[in-house]
Amino acid sequence: VDAKAAGLLRELVAIPSMNPYRTGTLEAGFGEERLARHVAACLEAAGLRVELSEVLAGRPNVVATLGGEADVAPLLFVAHLDTVPVEGMTIAPFEARVKGGRLHGRGACDNKGSMAAMMAALRRVAAGGTNPGPIVFAATADEESGFRGIQKLVADGVRARAAFVGEPTGLAIIIAHRGVVRWSVATSGTSAHSSHPEQGVNAIYRMAPLVGELERLAGDIAARPAHPLVGPPTLSVGTIHGGHSVNTVPDGCAIEVDRRFLPGDSPDDAEREVRALVERHPGATLERFLTAPAFEIAPDASVVGMARDAVAAVAGEARTVGVAYGTEAPHLHNAGIPAVVLGPGDGAQAHSADEFIDLAQLEAAARVYEHLMTQPVRS
Ligand SMILES: [Zn+2]
Repeated sequence: VDAKAAGLLRELVAIPSMNPYRTGTLEAGFGEERLARHVAACLEAAGLRVELSEVLAGRPNVVATLGGEADVAPLLFVAHLDTVPVEGMTIAPFEARVKGGRLHGRGACDNKGSMAAMMAALRRVAAGGTNPGPIVFAATADEESGFRGIQKLVADGVRARAAFVGEPTGLAIIIAHRGVVRWSVATSGTSAHSSHPEQGVNAIYRMAPLVGELERLAGDIAARPAHPLVGPPTLSVGTIHGGHSVNTVPDGCAIEVDRRFLPGDSPDDAEREVRALVERHPGATLERFLTAPAFEIAPDASVVGMARDAVAAVAGEARTVGVAYGTEAPHLHNAGIPAVVLGPGDGAQAHSADEFIDLAQLEAAARVYEHLMTQPVRS
């Protein structure tokens, strides 16, 4: 193995670790275990103390610790192990081909780039003994689907004085993002032959006015005050399914609704508003299937200052931004660990058909992480 981030990244991309989502089946290429064992072996060889913590069957987190002299809580570095699937990709997903200064493959950008940069920094720091305080590195399972890896890390009692979550931010420092809550909404009816619709109750007719009301609500929500970094709250109806055949009155119809809320806003308040609308319609039901917290940290928090200093030292200029997508940061932040999100790669490349990462930026990220790991401990 190679202490350069690019060499490490080639190894990581060559080991598929696709999230199985709600199927739970770990067929070839799905699940994080093989990658987790590889990461664990690399870091053990570099002299770190490594443990696997099972999140779901065959889907562990890796937690690696490097001791330091100072008697302080560790700095925590986090990168997720799982990727999205490879359907529709236009390149070989696991060959990790390098061309024109870019490394291509599933996960090259989201999120094995951040992971390789963190691991390269850890190897250099471990070899040089240049870290004043302890460092914990966590490679987490299940970020793309349910955030269960980071939740397990928190439940396992991880401690840190500051955390850096790797995601493809283009080395910008994310200090805020929106949260999301999703529901399925269903209406029911009674099926009948379509030649006698009066003998049935049409579930699609019951759903249609509800969809119209949600569209109006979406307009109201988007007009509410925007957050300076992450924009306005939103609501969107994303799917609709109903009926079995054109000659049958449909007995069921279901939609899925996505609601993005601002830092400081509550997903429960958002749910109360949508539930009140849904419950005005006879026979309509609402069920939440996902909640992901919003995130915001003060721009003058010490973890933000550390990140700014490190990026400025390596890249000359540090930017703090807000983004629309969710990350693992609020799970740490809400557990009392101040966190920012910072990593190599262009977010537009995440989940893309020809996913790649710029190798110069990958190496810059490794130097940013190394800088963070080697700074004197401030009391
Ligand atoms: Zn990611």
